[in-house]
Amino acid sequence: MKRSAPIHIDAEQFRKNGHMLIDRIAAFLESLPEQPVTKGEQPREIRALLGNEPLPVDATPLENIYMNVSELLFQHSLHNGHPRFWGYITSSAAPAGILADLLAASVNANVGAYPLSPVATEIEKQTVRWIAEFIGFPNDCGGLFVSGGNMANITGLLAARKAKAPWDIRKTGLNSRKMLIYCSVGTHTWIHKAADLLGFGTDSIRWIGMNGDQQMQTQLLENQIIEDLNQGHLPFVVVGTAGSVSTGSVDRLSEIAAVCKKHELWFHIDGAYGAPAVIVPEVTALFDGLELADSVALDPHKWLYSPLEAGCILVRNPKALAEAFSFRPEYYNFDGSDEDPATNFHEEGMQNSRGFRALKVWVTLRQVGKNGYIGMLREDIQLAKKLYDLTHAHPDMEAVSNHLSITTFRYVPRDFDKNDLGRLNKLNEELVNRIQTGGEAFVSNAVIDGKYCLRVCIVNYRTSEEDIEALVEIVERFGNEVFNQLKVK
Ligand SMILES: *Cc1c(COP(=O)(O)O)cnc(C)c1O
Repeated sequence: MKRSAPIHIDAEQFRKNGHMLIDRIAAFLESLPEQPVTKGEQPREIRALLGNEPLPVDATPLENIYMNVSELLFQHSLHNGHPRFWGYITSSAAPAGILADLLAASVNANVGAYPLSPVATEIEKQTVRWIAEFIGFPNDCGGLFVSGGNMANITGLLAARKAKAPWDIRKTGLNSRKMLIYCSVGTHTWIHKAADLLGFGTDSIRWIGMNGDQQMQTQLLENQIIEDLNQGHLPFVVVGTAGSVSTGSVDRLSEIAAVCKKHELWFHIDGAYGAPAVIVPEVTALFDGLELADSVALDPHKWLYSPLEAGCILVRNPKALAEAFSFRPEYYNFDGSDEDPATNFHEEGMQNSRGFRALKVWVTLRQVGKNGYIGMLREDIQLAKKLYDLTHAHPDMEAVSNHLSITTFRYVPRDFDKNDLGRLNKLNEELVNRIQTGGEAFVSNAVIDGKYCLRVCIVNYRTSEEDIEALVEIVERFGNEVFNQLKVK
């Protein structure tokens, strides 16, 4: 007799629940533009919705669970798929990727080793190759999918650490040498975690100043490296940023590449946000030198519009990841034949068992093609520029920066004392809070040269010109409100 497990559902019930759920998801996606971006609910309100139920002890019919939880999620989430969501760097997720995730979970391939995931492993390798081609990186590189930009960058730094330490660092550790990391002061905070987790400590980060275009000053970089070498330290990696988190600026990558070459340092590029934009002809030149990096971190869940999570690390030397990560325990039998060797991704990164993150990216790259991406990224960039122009022309606003698809600006009422930076910052901070909880649109913030700014990052293929015009009106309206309240105080 067949075993009957309470977790099993038969094909009939699977279809019924699945169709119901897909119908609900399709209606949800269709309704996004009419939904508030967020209801701005507080943790206490959300907890009250869930109730204080203890661990379920007995079974509940599945339909009830799906109905209940889909309603909870649709009604009480922040909708980053909304056409007016522009906060941080979180994209509107590709619908094709949503379905691909369902398919990936259905087969449940463990992409840690080839024998456990034959076709999934080869699809992941092909996706890595396509991403390299996408950004103009050598397509015989190594690489793999990870959870996001943080992990992609940390993986790149681990490869750099192994490649550049002149002793067996994987065996004996840091040996009390001061291994140094160089990056601009605009680098994303993953660098703190990396320096900490890798055992270097955050003091091992050499923060290099930026020029007026928010780019690392290459001359300062080289001066610092020379000074550290003279002190007997061990510089090993320079991190360039291609699309900085606050303003979208791209470092002068070919200049940094030349410094790295001269001093034999690993050149890592954090392209988590910006690297895909290299395909847009109008901005390609900004990325000169990207192809010279030893490693590039990307984030398909940002500007390739993949559903979370999908990060990707590319390394020029296809062996560098295995050299940094491989251990070969006796209880694995994954080797295959010598003339047709298998890739076992557990040897190339930090994870052991791995999900099939590449599938949603592979499906969407096929659906859209490079040309489709050129069009979408170009429009995101054009919309950010339009916002810059509109705020620049507005008598009560000040456009501050515009790089790639990120624009920053401030609300500066015309009869406001512009030298009162403290009050202006307070006004704009309050304005960001209002907009973030108001539900009409979502922006985040950036502090640029001491100015607290509204920051709009368009990695959203649903945004149109009308939405950008609406934002200007929203800022006007809320800005005026906040201004009048501050005046009364
Ligand atoms: C978003 C971002 C990261 C971190 O990526 P996660 O996917 O959030 O882990 C790192 N660097 C830059 C430049 C980013 O924009």
